[in-house]
Amino acid sequence: MLLLIFTSGAIWFLFHLPDSINPFSPLEIADAPNLVTPLKLRILGARPEACAGVIKRAGVEVTRAPILSDEADCGADDAMTLKKSQVVYGDGVEMTCPALTALMIWERHVAIPAARAEMGADLTRIIHYGSYQCRNVNGAKDGKRSKHASARAIDIAGFQFSDGQKISVLKDWGQDTPAGRYLKRVHDGACEVFNGVLGPDYNALHANHFHFERGAWSYCK
Ligand SMILES: [Zn+2]
Repeated sequence: MLLLIFTSGAIWFLFHLPDSINPFSPLEIADAPNLVTPLKLRILGARPEACAGVIKRAGVEVTRAPILSDEADCGADDAMTLKKSQVVYGDGVEMTCPALTALMIWERHVAIPAARAEMGADLTRIIHYGSYQCRNVNGAKDGKRSKHASARAIDIAGFQFSDGQKISVLKDWGQDTPAGRYLKRVHDGACEVFNGVLGPDYNALHANHFHFERGAWSYCK
């Protein structure tokens, strides 16, 4: 009897949860990230059509661009090329749908609001060093493939704002300035949607950029 009460209570609870925290309701980029966002992103990985719908509903413009590669463990079936979001990235953002969705949540709920709060201006451009690239971790000759090789990662190097300010991970990381605080916020905020985040505090190879990835492990350094 107690079990029945508990089970029906649990089912009632699930059906009455707000969509943003209900793991069974679809992810929306408009929802601020929370504890179930990583789970929802993982579910989207197995549902390319549903994921394309998430991107479309948020008004993000993309073209489907499956990446073919003859090299082992490179390429991605569900890759998309980013055409237009609320911020300009320049060319070459090619990511799998769940990884791009994570980037869009970060852009909307972390990078854009933090710009107003810390820099007193709107974020207009994100400078990146690339997303898809068929290579190993850290560009090493041997070893395992980087998440860049499966279009699940992007390297972010700097930011530009509506008043002309430009900041970079290389020059402004760790500074007790608005730029330094902005970089800290966008780095830490990325850990809510990407399960792999590396920055200058991790190693010298990341002195000039943040690495964001949707991978199997969880780290935020
Ligand atoms: Zn990287």
